[in-house]
Amino acid sequence: MKRIGIARSLLYYHYFYLWKTFFEELGVEVVLSSPTNKKILENGMKKAVDDTCLPVKLTFGHLMDLADRVDYLFIPRLVSIEPDAFTCPKLIGLPDMIKANLENLPTVLDTCFDIKKGISLYQSFLELGQNFTNKTALINNAFQKAEMKQKEFEKTMEKGLTPEEAIDIMEGSPSPANNNPVKPRTEDLKIGLIGHPYNLYDNYINMDLIEKLRQGGCQVITAEMLPAPVMKKEAAAWREDIFWTMGRKMVGAAFHFFNSNRVDGIICCISFECGPDSLLEVLILEEARKHKEIPYMSLIIDEHTGEAGVVTRVEAFLDMIRRKR
Ligand code: SF4
Repeated sequence: MKRIGIARSLLYYHYFYLWKTFFEELGVEVVLSSPTNKKILENGMKKAVDDTCLPVKLTFGHLMDLADRVDYLFIPRLVSIEPDAFTCPKLIGLPDMIKANLENLPTVLDTCFDIKKGISLYQSFLELGQNFTNKTALINNAFQKAEMKQKEFEKTMEKGLTPEEAIDIMEGSPSPANNNPVKPRTEDLKIGLIGHPYNLYDNYINMDLIEKLRQGGCQVITAEMLPAPVMKKEAAAWREDIFWTMGRKMVGAAFHFFNSNRVDGIICCISFECGPDSLLEVLILEEARKHKEIPYMSLIIDEHTGEAGVVTRVEAFLDMIRRKR
């Protein structure tokens, strides 16, 4: 059986089941890289282009972790995944950066996803599937099942679960550490947590932020736990069009938290050296100034972020919300 490697980074947190189901339905074994660790981070920092963002550097490390264990590496070129928006330039150029900087890679499948150019999602998957079979019916069936499973994944997260918790449940192996994430411990605060999924859910690089908040008595709500139409509507109300798909989701979630009065505080977690985030944070900050009743904090993470700094800031933020109350 052929084996395909998927990095446990970047859009793994968005599309895991879409990709996994598609490949498995075509008889290909999916191999994930290990959860982020010191070696993955160090390898990524050594090999990645200097001025790229931390999530991309980590992806280099994850792909190096996979390279010897698989026949293929799946590094899609995601240009646009909705008709009127793009992903980010670093995601668009990712396959080129990887191929130019890492040696001895297995075959790289860098299928292009570009809905804005008129290439439907189905056409991209058809092209991807043709690497493994020439039976169109088999590819169609795999694509349909993949879409269904992805929807189930998204619905599961909307119950208040992180992607990893949703995966544990869908795979039938709930993690003991997260035995009841929907109604955790004694909680007296609700915190809206904004950021890219690869920053929010990679516990190694964010110093276990979600768990720290939960231990601190917070119910954490993220964009992945909100229905997509809610965020789309909020982002569309902004005076300018936001043309990054992931940025729209972040801004939509932030505006929803500010306008719905459902959280006691908002934390925005962004990557150092992320161009889109540096602009989006300004929009979110502008909104925060209009809603002074909701405490807001931004947390910038990079490869040098220390745990003590994160703990101190989070504890001070939660104390401040409780004192204000
Ligand atoms: S949106 Fe920012 S953090 Fe994400 S890949 Fe692009 S530059 Fe990196």
